[in-house]
Amino acid sequence: MSNSSFNYLGNNLFVESISLDLIAKKFGTPCYVYSQAMLTAAYKEFDSAFAKRDHLVCYAVKANSNLAILNLLSRFGSGFDIVSGGELQRVLKAGGDPQKIVFSGVGKSFDEMCAGLSANILCFNVESEAELEKLNNAASKMNRIAPVSLRVNPDVDARTHPYISTGLKENKFGIPFDEAEKIYMSAKRFKNVRITGLDCHIGSQLTELEPFIEACRKMLGLLDCLEGQGLKIEHLDLGGGLGIRYSAESPPSVKNYIAALCAEIGRRDQRILIEPGRSLVGSAGLLLTRVEYLKHTPYRDFAIVDAAMNDLIRPALYDAYHEILPVVVDSGGSNRTKIYQVVGPICETGDFLGHDRELALNEGDLLAIMSAGAYGMSMSSNYNSRPRPAEVMVDGDCAHLIRERESLDSLMFSEVILP
Ligand SMILES: *Cc1c(COP(=O)(O)O)cnc(C)c1O
Repeated sequence: MSNSSFNYLGNNLFVESISLDLIAKKFGTPCYVYSQAMLTAAYKEFDSAFAKRDHLVCYAVKANSNLAILNLLSRFGSGFDIVSGGELQRVLKAGGDPQKIVFSGVGKSFDEMCAGLSANILCFNVESEAELEKLNNAASKMNRIAPVSLRVNPDVDARTHPYISTGLKENKFGIPFDEAEKIYMSAKRFKNVRITGLDCHIGSQLTELEPFIEACRKMLGLLDCLEGQGLKIEHLDLGGGLGIRYSAESPPSVKNYIAALCAEIGRRDQRILIEPGRSLVGSAGLLLTRVEYLKHTPYRDFAIVDAAMNDLIRPALYDAYHEILPVVVDSGGSNRTKIYQVVGPICETGDFLGHDRELALNEGDLLAIMSAGAYGMSMSSNYNSRPRPAEVMVDGDCAHLIRERESLDSLMFSEVILP
């Protein structure tokens, strides 16, 4: 766990200078816990990797949209990649600069377009000719000119989980590479849109450099071609997708990844945008949970914990692996390890957080589900009428509650019983 703020001090797992044991006492479980130092370091790593090149890091809000995280990043000067009107609201509320917001997504509604236009965002990443037409109508109605980048699908195999691969020609995302030039040229007929950029995003949790390079080369070829036809492309947005280490993966470092992209871009003078989500917040968070029951059957040993698939759906959805660490290591050695199925209380066999984990456990023990900062809380739900967990941001020896645990009342707040 190098460069991590999650470390054992004696037998206790700490986040920066606070033990998780103390956090559980103070805020209860299940609870998402983030390290401000790790978040800060991740952002600075991206930002400084670009050196002096004109660039904008646009944090992909969907990875974790907590206002405190958005606000922290906005104070560093970060931009934002949003995919809905709700995310736009969040970024604005968190103090984000509208001129650093790009709006992605394959299904923007007319109202979402209007909201983006009235906020005066930097750019709409448009994914089809039909969307371009709708955006033109929205801009026309509002008497605005919409800044547009076309999201092009470079048909590159990201070699990641099929559910989070987006850059193959079979995927729903982007404009087919071979049609991009034609659509760029035809965009002139829309009076209320202005072409400003070119963008792609080929998938998530990529652990190799090659697909990024291949996509970058294709985009640069297209960029040169468009400029050759007299179109001015002001920025190139290369999307997000850099993977993190969940278990044995060894994704490229941010530094090497950005350096490789910059080497491809060479002396071209476009501003470079990048949309990292997972690689900014993923490693900086964990899900803290408590063992409610140990259940030993003739076939399996189960640790039934108080977090579940509604809190962290990645294992159930993608069969994703998260390391699971004991918060207090059993030092006496009196308790022998067993191979546990770490599962939640939800009525689904898919409700697991980890399979076959070697742990020495007692009921009441705390566990840390690691690398849960991205696509954890943001994908959580109230399934089984479970209030969603609290979120805590640790800064040195301070633990700040950045989202209260949901109350039972708030679960039913918007529902109505018929008279
Ligand atoms: C999800 C998404 C990202 C972020 O992906 P990560 O894998 O979290 O870096 C960036 N851009 C777009 C368009 C996305 O949909």
